[in-house]
Amino acid sequence: VTWRENILRGEGQGARNARKTHCKHGHPFDQENTEWTLLGRRRCRACKRQADERYRARKSAVPQPTGGTNGT
Ligand SMILES: [Zn+2]
Repeated sequence: VTWRENILRGEGQGARNARKTHCKHGHPFDQENTEWTLLGRRRCRACKRQADERYRARKSAVPQPTGGTNGT
């Protein structure tokens, strides 16, 4: 049995994921919040937005100097 058949049989992890009604962060996979990727996977929009905000925050953050004023 190939992995593809496994998924179609509903025993693979992909099939298990598809049955989930919430993302791993608890956001509902409803029509509003769900986005389908080119790979046929679902993506949580709320998580995507959060990741996007995190990414932007990190990008704009001032890099911390390593070491520096340590006396001596
Ligand atoms: Zn989510």
